[in-house]
Amino acid sequence: MSGCIFCRIVSGEIPSQKIYEDDRVIAFKDINPRAPVHLLVVPRKHLASVLELGPEDSDLGGHVLHVLGQLARQEDLAGRGFRIVSNCGQEGGQTVDHLHFHLLGGRRLGAMG
Ligand code: AMP
Ligand code: ZN
Repeated sequence: MSGCIFCRIVSGEIPSQKIYEDDRVIAFKDINPRAPVHLLVVPRKHLASVLELGPEDSDLGGHVLHVLGQLARQEDLAGRGFRIVSNCGQEGGQTVDHLHFHLLGGRRLGAMG
């Protein structure tokens, strides 16, 4: 989607601080980090949110979770603890309508909500 900022990052049109990429996902640093480690894992395919994941995307969902775990290890968060978040819709606090998962860690995180 041409107007979507994460599609533009995926295509390379907009630069990002890329940490990881493969044929299905990319991961880059959040531009406005809320924790010492704040990465975004983003499927290359444009889906607005988890609501648009279909049965054909079940492999993608599993792959995203696997990459999140690997990145948590790589960032030395495995022994400390971390948080994975995917905001969905207005009341969920979603500001970019391209499915993404936040990986947050490196400090004691506050309560959810
Ligand atoms: P959400 O509010 O859950 O939709 O998350 C969107 C996230 O994308 C926010 O944490 C933003 O700081 C982040 N973000 C927006 N634009 C960029 C960008 N160009 N590069 C990196 N992160 C971005
Ligand atoms: Zn998009």
